[in-house]
Amino acid sequence: MKVTVDETTCIGCGLCEQACPEVFVLKDDGLAHVKTQSCDTHDLKEVASQCPVESIKVE
Ligand code: SF4
Repeated sequence: MKVTVDETTCIGCGLCEQACPEVFVLKDDGLAHVKTQSCDTHDLKEVASQCPVESIKVE
């Protein structure tokens, strides 16, 4: 599985970090970054579907 955040469209709302802090972190640049590619407790496709600007891709 490959998880990416499109930094050109992310608005830094923090929703992904709230939904799955194991994978997503908001950094000082105000954007979400991917820490690790997998999570045992959250459905990353579900998290991606919640991003308001569809910046998260799970392939
Ligand atoms: S949910 Fe989407 S817009 Fe919000 S911080 Fe995460 S990647 Fe960025």
